[in-house]
Amino acid sequence: EPLIRIRQLSKGYVRGGQAIPVLLDIGLEVQAGEFVALMGPSGSGKSTLLNLIAGIDKPSGGTIEIGGVDIGRLSEGELADWRAANVGFIFQFYNLMPVLTALENVELPLLLTNLSSSQRRAQAEAVLDMVGMSDRLDHYPNELSGGQQQRVAIARALVSDPTLIVADEPTGDLDRATGEEVLSLMDALHTELGKTIVMVTHDPKAAARAGRMVHLEKGVLVDDEEAER
Ligand code: ADP
Ligand code: ADP
Repeated sequence: EPLIRIRQLSKGYVRGGQAIPVLLDIGLEVQAGEFVALMGPSGSGKSTLLNLIAGIDKPSGGTIEIGGVDIGRLSEGELADWRAANVGFIFQFYNLMPVLTALENVELPLLLTNLSSSQRRAQAEAVLDMVGMSDRLDHYPNELSGGQQQRVAIARALVSDPTLIVADEPTGDLDRATGEEVLSLMDALHTELGKTIVMVTHDPKAAARAGRMVHLEKGVLVDDEEAER
């Protein structure tokens, strides 16, 4: 049973009375524990597909089942709860809250749970330790380098122990060496913690770190290959 099962998925927008297709008849299955790179030219629909898988957006047609849940059928409120419990997000520009410290940023997703404040703190410290940031707990994002901010963002994505991690160009704002470090960390999430990762990238070097590359062109899935590791 795959973790993600996508069937005949389509997504379109209506602009000025005209329907604009963005994704067409996508079929894709991802097993639990896989690390998948979504690739393709700008505008090919990568972010749209990622947002659908993450439950940020709703399909126009077809189905997305994740862990047996047809997420396209959930109400907005149910979808928000489902996301909070099941998905960790990593963004190109980190999206940390500038007025909160590293530790507070990582604790944030746990405020919606019924954990006590000391449990929240312990859990946030544990994941910050895992990403090598335990000596920066009280630093604000603007006191951290890009690579360090992305480590904090990875800790935030992990803190609620989601099955699925989605990442949109996680190394897009980093230099090559720092990007490699972040990718190694993501690789560890998948090999050591067994997380399923879906990552959008247009960098072939970044994609090669994933076990599988799925290529989109003009909203169509044109290629799906195992990567050489
Ligand atoms: P990328 O994922 O390629 O970095 P974006 O997702 O920000 O970039 O946008 C890709 C394209 O989608 C852009 O050309 C942008 O104009 C268009 N786009 C994104 N959101 C909207 C929207 N809400 N309405 C219209 N066009 C949009
Ligand atoms: P990619 O991530 O591959 O660059 P996107 O998924 O961001 O591509 O966008 C794919 C296409 O969908 C683009 O042509 C973009 O203009 C269009 N698009 C994305 N979001 C919207 C939106 N909210 N409204 C209208 N068009 C959109």
